[in-house]
Amino acid sequence: MGKLEQYHQIVEPGEIQLLKKLAEPFEGKTFLHVNSTFEGGGVAEILHRMKGIFEELGIHCRWEVIKGDQNFFEMTKQVHNGLQGKDVVIMKDLWDYYVEINRQNAARLDLSGDLVFIHDPQPAPLVSRRPTNARWVWRCHIDISHPNPQIWGALKPWVEQYSAAIFSISKFTQALKIPQFIMTPSIDPLSDKNKDLSEDEIRAVLERYEVPRDCPILLQVSRFDPFKDPVGVIRAFRIVRKYHRCRLVLVGGTATDDPESGEVLSRVLDEADGDPEIHVLDLPPFSDVEVNAFQRAATVIIQKSTREGFGLTVSEALWKGRPVVAGAVGGIPMQVEHGVGGFLVHTIEGAAYRIRQLLHDPEMCRRMGEAGKEHVRRNFLITRQARNYLAVWNAVEHLPQRVIQI
Ligand code: UDP
Repeated sequence: MGKLEQYHQIVEPGEIQLLKKLAEPFEGKTFLHVNSTFEGGGVAEILHRMKGIFEELGIHCRWEVIKGDQNFFEMTKQVHNGLQGKDVVIMKDLWDYYVEINRQNAARLDLSGDLVFIHDPQPAPLVSRRPTNARWVWRCHIDISHPNPQIWGALKPWVEQYSAAIFSISKFTQALKIPQFIMTPSIDPLSDKNKDLSEDEIRAVLERYEVPRDCPILLQVSRFDPFKDPVGVIRAFRIVRKYHRCRLVLVGGTATDDPESGEVLSRVLDEADGDPEIHVLDLPPFSDVEVNAFQRAATVIIQKSTREGFGLTVSEALWKGRPVVAGAVGGIPMQVEHGVGGFLVHTIEGAAYRIRQLLHDPEMCRRMGEAGKEHVRRNFLITRQARNYLAVWNAVEHLPQRVIQI
């Protein structure tokens, strides 16, 4: 059975047929993606999976990754933080360096494609090499609802050289001269991260990482990033534990384009202070089955972000039928309907309160997990996103027409 056929059993009727129909005009064409890391984080997660789907639709899907040194990625992390609203100042020589590294990458990479998606700010200046009439789209995955004006002001002239821009939710759209599209990310139900696992497989992973299942497990899976608030999760856990015996598992990892993670990890370890009921696991890249197993072993999954682009981990958690307690930021409220698939929270105390409520009520956990899974099935699976990509392709092919007949 082809891979696309396997989705038939999961997604809405007619979805795969529609996907094939939308792909027809682009058969044999090339769809290029460029980002800044092959591993770690939601962007790489989606690209790994999307490639196979497009190949099966008869579209050649290529993926290039820009290279940079530590100075470059420290600077681009500041850009990322600034776009997410942090008060940062970036000096002109660093912006020049950013442009120079992108110039070197443009010379090294094959940037040809019938449709080119450039993901996030790191490779954004590649657009200065865009051939006339080529369709280049800037895909922004981060929470840009309240950007630092200096940082956004510096990036915007590049963004406006693209054919169009895509943001994850309507709150992130900007005043731009180019068309904008809104498209949420998605998860792949057939990937190692999300496929069904047997009880033996789950047990094997927990034993390997020495996490006992003697009491309910609370889990957060996230890069060690300040905006994911892992320290806040530990503080919420300490409140909950006064009332319930439970364990906290923080599954983290680092991304090659994120130099901050080492520092955040040591802050987390300081906060955990050797507590045997707090398991801080720094997993290597591609630990997909392991993440899947921890999500399935958890009773409640937390995503206490204070800023978030979308937060794929939330859909991943809901897909496992687990209730989610999460920060009401970025794309999270689209995934967690408050009181349906879990709870939205704004503070450490709020998170602790909702976790306690769930630990008290296994039936509520089951009901919310079921509702959350169905919400993800209808809205956040990869076939829906592939369909959106094809719709954007159709739209940019026909620019500047405002009405497109497909
Ligand atoms: N992830 C992982 N291992 C980790 C931490 C995160 O595999 O140690 C994955 C996680 O399962 C999800 C992605 O990385 O698929 C994170 O995407 P999200 O949108 O939640 O956050 P981002 O890191 O892109 O800000």
